[in-house]
Amino acid sequence: MSIATRLSNDDIARLNQQFETATAGEILDWAVETFDDGLATAASFGGPTGMVILHMLAVRDPGTYVFVLDTDYLFEETYQTMRRSIDSIGLTNVNVFRSKLSHEQQAAEYGAALWMRDPDLCCELRKVEPNRRALEGKAAWVSGLRRDQSDGRSDAPIVSWNDRFGVVKINPLANWDEKQTWDYIMKHKVPYNPLLDQGYVSIGCYNCTVPGVQGRAGRWQGFDKDECGLHT
Ligand code: SF4
Repeated sequence: MSIATRLSNDDIARLNQQFETATAGEILDWAVETFDDGLATAASFGGPTGMVILHMLAVRDPGTYVFVLDTDYLFEETYQTMRRSIDSIGLTNVNVFRSKLSHEQQAAEYGAALWMRDPDLCCELRKVEPNRRALEGKAAWVSGLRRDQSDGRSDAPIVSWNDRFGVVKINPLANWDEKQTWDYIMKHKVPYNPLLDQGYVSIGCYNCTVPGVQGRAGRWQGFDKDECGLHT
């Protein structure tokens, strides 16, 4: 039986109460000790909070299982940030997952530019399904999600059971803000995506990201959507 199935609702409620006043480092200390090699984190190499999580985990355990969802539509700056960060942060267990469909296969099966017609389906094919494969056999998933990033994230718990992926979800930075995030990046000289200095606030696929808009509003413009389906 994995540790994940042994965390009862009462355990989760108690941990959330305890972690509301804990530091992100204390939460990650608990996560690394509790889940050991069952712990996973996703790296988008887009937003700054994910970079903070990668750095904090590498300090504790450089061999933490890190997975990257390469949608094939990432900015070149995102790939550059990934290459720069792996050595610089000291990550030794980075695993890249892609959709089972190439661009061409997706276009043949679902039509060209699916993201312009049905971004939920495009995200399901290029993010959610690979995320499911990336988390197979894992017990817990650390995310860099912050409550101040959008209305939909405003009540995100620090620890929860994630039914969709069958893991414990941990958001150690849930109650951080933008300033704390950047203070950490500057203090520890953590690499970050250069698009963040060019007006981009939230960075995903180039098809669905525009600069100059606060929070997650720069994603999927024209659609009633601000999540790709990983965190909902
Ligand atoms: S963010 Fe856009 S291009 Fe990327 S997977 Fe989702 S809909 Fe497709």
